[in-house]
Amino acid sequence: MTRGDTGPSTRAIHGVAHPKADRSPVATPIYQSSTFVHPIGSSEEVLYTRYGNNPNQTALGEKFAALEGAERAIFLASGMGATALAHLAMLRPGDHLLASAWIYGGTRRLFNEEFGKLGIDVTLVEPDNQRKWRQHERKTTRAVFVETPTNPTMRVLDLEPLALFCRERGIALIVDSTFASPVNFRPLEHGADLVIHSATKYLNGHDDVIGGVVAGSEPVIEEVRHLMQVWGQSPDPHATWLVERGLKTLAVRIGRHNANGIAFAEWAEQHPAVAEVHYPGLHCHPDHEVARRILDGYGGMVGLTLAGGAAAADVVLRKLRIATHAPSLGGVETLVSEPRFTSHAALSAEERAEQGIADGFIRVSLGIEDIDDIIADFEDAFSTL
Ligand SMILES: *Cc1c(COP(=O)(O)O)cnc(C)c1O
Repeated sequence: MTRGDTGPSTRAIHGVAHPKADRSPVATPIYQSSTFVHPIGSSEEVLYTRYGNNPNQTALGEKFAALEGAERAIFLASGMGATALAHLAMLRPGDHLLASAWIYGGTRRLFNEEFGKLGIDVTLVEPDNQRKWRQHERKTTRAVFVETPTNPTMRVLDLEPLALFCRERGIALIVDSTFASPVNFRPLEHGADLVIHSATKYLNGHDDVIGGVVAGSEPVIEEVRHLMQVWGQSPDPHATWLVERGLKTLAVRIGRHNANGIAFAEWAEQHPAVAEVHYPGLHCHPDHEVARRILDGYGGMVGLTLAGGAAAADVVLRKLRIATHAPSLGGVETLVSEPRFTSHAALSAEERAEQGIADGFIRVSLGIEDIDDIIADFEDAFSTL
């Protein structure tokens, strides 16, 4: 696999750079067309937007593959669409999936509520110890799925030992890398076979599109494309164009998210209203050493356990002015949410506590506003406690 010899900022803008024809548009035009003129009597591939071969879809897929260091990538209608089809491309009835228990709520629902109907058994494993994967493996295990960094405690998994475990058994390693973006982490460089992102988050970055992407080897992505066609998961040309536009600023945005993340985490660590800060850039984080070794940046997601518990969270969320109370993440606007009501609502309070999500936990997705203003906003909100 090759990433070319350019840096991530260049790849996010140009993909693999190539000379452009005179008078051709600098930005990809929007091909807002469901169908395309087909040559009469031709057996060439039919162009149809549900098939994933609309020029916007092709252009974005090529750019993203270069950025992620993949042979090929394909965008889908949502991150969940990407997760579902990435797994369906690898698994058959009778197969077993070993999945991390520290995953997005929607993914957990997909595994628990839907995969059984398809004859795919799923075991959720606490991913913090290699032994646990071995304990739960079966003869029918065909894939391992993990998310890293994890939501909302920002645990960072060391992929290489896990990749070795998978390689020894000939099973696929699928990684949801939404929280890192390819600027901070590229799982394929650490032995993953398939990478998933919710493009809704950092890749698009402006809280105005739903999208997803799967990146990996040519034959697997071709299988995902086949599934996308028949399960009807293709992205709209305009949404695709917006993601391509968002991607152009990914590297500068992530640079700012990283800077705001560390500044905010360090400020919060000193504040008496905060009992615990969950950020891999801090020495106190359980995965700080792993994060320092394998990430190119610690990201813009910070978890706070408020000393005053759920009541304090309620007060703070009502007082914030710049930070907006909304689920989702990875956009230019700072967003805050309470995992117990959003991503982790399906778990009991005990299950959440086991994962380090006490009541009074708020998740902050640092935007790219001026960090002094964000901190002042939280300082104000905390002062009322
Ligand atoms: C948001 C999210 C998803 C789902 O993405 P959608 O675009 O909302 O379908 C999957 N995984 C992670 C880690 C996410 O944050």
